[in-house]
Amino acid sequence: MSTPRPTGATGQRELVVASANAHKLEEIAAILTEVGLAGIRLRSMREFDVASPAEDGETFEANALIKARACVEATGLPAIADDSGIEVDALGGAPGVRSARFAGTHGDDEANNDALLAALADVADERRTARFVCAAALVTPHGLEQTVRGTMEGRVLRERRGTNGFGYDPLFVADATDDGRSNGELSAAEKDRISHRGVAFRALARPLQQLLAGR
Ligand code: IMP
Repeated sequence: MSTPRPTGATGQRELVVASANAHKLEEIAAILTEVGLAGIRLRSMREFDVASPAEDGETFEANALIKARACVEATGLPAIADDSGIEVDALGGAPGVRSARFAGTHGDDEANNDALLAALADVADERRTARFVCAAALVTPHGLEQTVRGTMEGRVLRERRGTNGFGYDPLFVADATDDGRSNGELSAAEKDRISHRGVAFRALARPLQQLLAGR
């Protein structure tokens, strides 16, 4: 059996992103450019016949690896994937890997925000600390597997503020914002600079450079 090569039909280095989300692809493309890896052609998993695997890992890293491996198996190309969520200290780290389905229905942001506000109703301001976590994974057809993690520390508000972003953004103020605006009040560029996802994907730059160099 021949060894799968990390290049596509065009001979250009290709990388499959285990996401159907166009915004995520743009965000990753911007980060690759920023770290000097603009030559990599990003392909969405949507372009291939990749069955969505069950994200049943108990950690963000496990879920990111599950998604990246599924893309590698289906395409023979290297793949990157991420898994993210919010850990709330007063809830013992919940909702964590269950963030997208905290209220029961996967991806219902409004219901998830209502559920988080209800769960923290009796929690004093100084105990509403939390962090967004993102694990990003790079998996190659040759069996290299690498994960990195980015976090964004902050706290959960008592009511929604702002309409930018997605998920729990209107309820979260990052420690790194010096003017108290919520993530929902930050521009996309402001959030990307400090976000868990931005930190994690920038940390993938070195493993990606090594992959390109054939190491
Ligand atoms: P996923 O890893 O993109 O599937 O994200 C899982 C869930 O975590 C999302 O549905 C959101 O509820 C939450 N989440 C992850 N990242 C963010 C973020 O940057 N802002 C707000 N919510 C997020």
